[in-house]
Amino acid sequence: MIVVTDDKGISKIKESLSSSSASFKRISLYGKTVFLTWGDEIKAPQNAISVKGDGAPVLSTRSWKSDNTVVEVGGVPIGSNDVVIAAGPCAVESEEQFREVARGVARNGSAILRGGAFKPRTSPYSFQGLGVEGIRIMHDVSEELGVPIVTEIMDAETLRECRDMIDMVQIGSRNAQNFTLLQKVGRSGKPVLLKNGMGNTVNEWLNSSEYLLSEGNENVVLCYRGVKSFENSVRFSFDAGSLTRVKRLSHLPLAADPSHPAGDSDLVESIALAAVAAGADMLEIEVHPDPPSAKSDSAQQLTLEQFRITSERIQRLASALGRGVWKP
Ligand code: PEP
Ligand code: MN
Repeated sequence: MIVVTDDKGISKIKESLSSSSASFKRISLYGKTVFLTWGDEIKAPQNAISVKGDGAPVLSTRSWKSDNTVVEVGGVPIGSNDVVIAAGPCAVESEEQFREVARGVARNGSAILRGGAFKPRTSPYSFQGLGVEGIRIMHDVSEELGVPIVTEIMDAETLRECRDMIDMVQIGSRNAQNFTLLQKVGRSGKPVLLKNGMGNTVNEWLNSSEYLLSEGNENVVLCYRGVKSFENSVRFSFDAGSLTRVKRLSHLPLAADPSHPAGDSDLVESIALAAVAAGADMLEIEVHPDPPSAKSDSAQQLTLEQFRITSERIQRLASALGRGVWKP
């Protein structure tokens, strides 16, 4: 059960809790006090919003918070009128490689740098990423250029070790339902980019975000990266309708990753534009200085020149829609 109350209701809820055997947790979220209770139902005070835990998302929805949430990452507002671009390589391969991409994309509209240090590869024999060293490289380049970074974390130990070097933690598609990891990232309070699980529904994806929110983490951005379907002419199916549906349902900022559903650099731009048209507030795009030599996702990474052109077109579409692209 979830009970949201104003200050006056707090003592009433505490009273109900003391006379019940329900276990509970109290958090503060977007300026409201929220009690999460399990076990016995408690009596909610008048004026409080109370929702039974029936499997439907609550804290991520507009029925609970109607206005758009804006998440700040190193001074970059995600969820405002301006679309935010986060570009960079699939994997950080060396300091030189990351610095070269970072400089190129930052010059052409990327407000955040993306890069993978821990790579969730299908085969254990494929390149696994540089690990903590990769995050150190990203951090150093980020300081050099004054541009924040987003990178995937796959376990709580790495989160502890690297948290001060990362501006935004990415939860990848494969970990979108790793509930203990979600809770720990939730407790860290760090801004989170939460991908949808490739086999999850919108309802399941929003419930994953509830694992972060219910730890009191207000800084959650949803990132759509497509789903597995019977279609095999693309890597994953990218459903613009689902994207708009999520925008309607949730107050959380909405990002999209056009690179992984494309699986082919030739499709990335059109999926990116479709995402902006469908309401995305942020785009995460893979860019490599020499895609054919990339150690992962070689076929889908844009060259720096392709990124420059795509970025310009995103800018033009955003303007046509009465939006902009965020620049420092
Ligand atoms: C990534 O962005 O590096 C990545 C692995 O994406 P996903 O988790 O969506 O597959
Ligand atoms: Mn990739």
